[in-house]
Amino acid sequence: MSNVTLILLGAGSSSRFDSSVKKQWLYSTEQPLWLQVARHFEALHPFAKIIIVSSAEDIRFMPYFADYTYVVGGDSRQASLTNALAKVQSRYVLVSDIARACVPADMVARILAAKEEAACIVPALSATDTLYMDDLPLDREKVHIIQTPQLSVTETLKKSLKSDKLFTDDSSAIAALGEKIHFVEGDTRAHKLTTVADLDKLPCLQPPVKRTMTGFGLDIHPFELGKPMVLGGVAIDSEVGFKAHSDGDVAIHALIDALLGAAGMGDIGELYPDTDATYKGADSKVLLQDTVSKVQSHGFEIGNVDLTILAQAPRINPYKLQIRKTLASLLQLPMQRVNIKATTAEKLGFVGRKEGVTVHAVATLHYFDWTKLISGQTS
Ligand code: MG
Repeated sequence: MSNVTLILLGAGSSSRFDSSVKKQWLYSTEQPLWLQVARHFEALHPFAKIIIVSSAEDIRFMPYFADYTYVVGGDSRQASLTNALAKVQSRYVLVSDIARACVPADMVARILAAKEEAACIVPALSATDTLYMDDLPLDREKVHIIQTPQLSVTETLKKSLKSDKLFTDDSSAIAALGEKIHFVEGDTRAHKLTTVADLDKLPCLQPPVKRTMTGFGLDIHPFELGKPMVLGGVAIDSEVGFKAHSDGDVAIHALIDALLGAAGMGDIGELYPDTDATYKGADSKVLLQDTVSKVQSHGFEIGNVDLTILAQAPRINPYKLQIRKTLASLLQLPMQRVNIKATTAEKLGFVGRKEGVTVHAVATLHYFDWTKLISGQTS
């Protein structure tokens, strides 16, 4: 194991990447981008530790993929980096942006080999265009275009960030301390993914594999006298509603679990705990919309869903089309991909005794095909 820790910064909101998917969750073959980047670096050097900085939302799911150290980011790059540095004990730290997805192996080797040269080792490109500052042309021989990863002496970097000034990279913070910076040759292939237009400038990013992932959901709710009944987002004419912390929409709950199941994202209780007062009396339609947005932003598209409502009472058949329409709209799917089935329990068991309703749901997902963003089609 080496005396270098790797920090990968990916806490940004991806706001300039105009898509339903966050850029760090674009799938390359069958790995999200952030995981491909981490595995790429891991194969290049036996780092003392690999720390991934991301949003709290992402860190809920990232440990399901790989066993790295995950740190919640701050409001700025500097705050995120400070949070991560608190977990670094090694002498050196290599810091890169996850969005710089395709850093070539030889560039990383040049940076690591130079680690004794200065407090901060920085890959830089020379300028090929003519440059002006205000009205005056610059000597472009003296201009460096800075990239990441950058290698720093850990203690020096920690010290440099204790400044009120916001720096855009590690080298400028360290230079502000009066410490020496050493440049090594950068590489244009280490391009940063910022907007959709950058997608075809990243040679290591492969289209996602075509794979169907299936999820199953099941929910049961008992009846409660005098409560309005909502099922599949539709108001049902009934003397009883569902006993629940939320509005008790048993069909939507089963559907949410099917979607989360296919995405490998846990279950409804983890995401919307009934111990949380936020979800008291919650409109399940809002929870479904939130689930759809989570599933999409984490790299998936919904294929189809299929629900079976098991109810002795009320009669579901008159509402099936309306439920289909309502759910299709919430799922942003054409109606033919949202199937609703209803059956009685032949008077058997608790459903047969009209004590409650059971819903089974299945959903399929596939990876969001980001290549269609390049060709200018919309998703
Ligand atoms: Mg439920």
